[in-house]
Amino acid sequence: MPVPREILSELRTFLDVEIQAGRRHAPLDPGAVSAFLSAARPSAPAAAAPAPVAASVSATVHVPAPAPRAAASAAPAVVIAAPPAADTPAARAAAAGDLEAVAEAVRACRACALAATRTRSVPGEGAPQGPDVMFVGEAPGRDEDVQGRPFVGAAGKLLDKMIAAMGYAREQVFIANVLKCRPPQNRTPTPEEMALCLPYLRRQIALVRPRTIVALGATAYRGLTGDQAAIASRVRGIWTEFDGIPMMPTFHPAYLLRVPSAKRVVWEDLQKVLARLKEIR
Ligand code: URA
Repeated sequence: MPVPREILSELRTFLDVEIQAGRRHAPLDPGAVSAFLSAARPSAPAAAAPAPVAASVSATVHVPAPAPRAAASAAPAVVIAAPPAADTPAARAAAAGDLEAVAEAVRACRACALAATRTRSVPGEGAPQGPDVMFVGEAPGRDEDVQGRPFVGAAGKLLDKMIAAMGYAREQVFIANVLKCRPPQNRTPTPEEMALCLPYLRRQIALVRPRTIVALGATAYRGLTGDQAAIASRVRGIWTEFDGIPMMPTFHPAYLLRVPSAKRVVWEDLQKVLARLKEIR
């Protein structure tokens, strides 16, 4: 059966991300392999493609290593086995019918190297239906990694105070991160990691439908918007949108722990959120 163009394009994107991340092996659906190779070598005879097989069967495929890109598509000989499209975070997230299914998919996810170093993944938590606000941070830290819950360390205590100052209990908002697993030593998530993981958050947002989103810090903003050059002090306080939902970027609570004088402008940003909520209620 022919594989739709979007799937091939997703596969290409996936492989690019894998290669950039330094991986050379992953499982891949043989049907997708044959279609991918035919697309990469349009002159290859159709008879060279393997017979259709069940989606769960995995195979090894030869695709190019990143550096000699043009040459490699002519002679795809470096071994990399890529995963079936159904095993990508994008496919797993799309298939998740509710928040618990997203959380299950996150807990089972081994799509990037962070799976090997995490203690627990951290899907996110909070009000499941239409909360006024969803807070989005960058990635779990040490405490979150141990507990499997978002914002439970020092920055989380400050976030709790911010939430209370807005007039909410923690359970009345939703709290999540762009990355669902802790990067070692709390290093900044890479753009590739964020792009790979974002479908989980996007699915959560689609299911929860918060009235507003607050992006905490530049990294969360970059992960959500793809604008890798964004600087927190430039984008904070300015409304933008994520998937049609009003989004307010502000400083990360961890930054406020280091620079308490920035609390004033964060409070201004949060008041903009409260004012907007009054308008859209
Ligand atoms: N920082 C984040 O961005 N997220 C957390 O969950 C904790 C700290």
